[in-house]
Amino acid sequence: MQTHSRRWFVASSCSVSLATLMPRALAQTKITPGADSALIVVDVQNCFTPGGSLAVNKGDEIIPLINRLAKAFQNVVLTQDWHTPAHISFASSHAGKKPFESVTLPYGNQILWPDHCVQGTEGAGIHKDIDIPHAQLIIRKGFNRNVDSYSAFVEADGKSKTGLDGYFKERGINTVYVVGLATDFCVAWTAMDARKLGLAATVIEDACRGIDTQGSLAAAWKSMAEAGVKRIKSSEIALPG
Ligand SMILES: [Zn+2]
Repeated sequence: MQTHSRRWFVASSCSVSLATLMPRALAQTKITPGADSALIVVDVQNCFTPGGSLAVNKGDEIIPLINRLAKAFQNVVLTQDWHTPAHISFASSHAGKKPFESVTLPYGNQILWPDHCVQGTEGAGIHKDIDIPHAQLIIRKGFNRNVDSYSAFVEADGKSKTGLDGYFKERGINTVYVVGLATDFCVAWTAMDARKLGLAATVIEDACRGIDTQGSLAAAWKSMAEAGVKRIKSSEIALPG
C-alpha cells in the first residue's frame, strides 16, 4: 500500500509540474500556416453527408471544425466532385453491378459507387453549413465521363491534371493541409498526389471522415505514411482568436 501511495504521489507531482509547463510548450509547437500554405477542403458536398446518396458516416460532424480551421489559413481551396450523368464510376453504368463492387477499367481497378454528385444537381452542391467566405478557388473533378478522379490534382488515369498544382505553383504555395471527405479516397489521393508533385502534405485526421469499404481506411493511412504524408490532429494548428 505504501509503495502504491508513494507512486501515486510521485505521479501526481509530475503531472502538476507538467501541467504548469504545458501551455508554453504547446504554444511553441503549434503550426501557424503562412502564405505558402493552403487548406484543401475535399468534397464536403450534399451527396457525401448524411441524407446524401453516398453519405459518409457522420460526414457532417467535421463541418464546424473545418470552418474554424479555415480561419487559420490565408489560402483555402474547396474541391467538388462533379460527375456527368451515367459516369463510369457509377454502378448503374455497368450492367449487373452493384455499388461497392469493382470493375477493371483501362486505367485500373475502379470501385463502383451509387450515383452521386451529378453536375448541377442539389447533391453536388457544397454543404450549406460550410462557411469559408475567403476560399479562393473551387476545383471540380471527375467531370470526364470515362475517368474518375478521387484526387484534386490528377484524374484516375494518372495523367490528366485538374490544374491545381499549376495554381499552387503560380501562387507560391508549397505546403497543403487536407481535410474533408472521405479520408480513404479523395482526401488520401489528394494528399498523396500533392507529395508526388513535390508539395509538403499533411492530413488533419479529426477534420476528415472515412468510408472504409474493403479495408480501405487502414490501407489509405498506410499508403499515405509511405508517401510521406504527415498525419496530425486539429489541435496542432494555431487557431486565431
Ligand atoms: Zn465521385
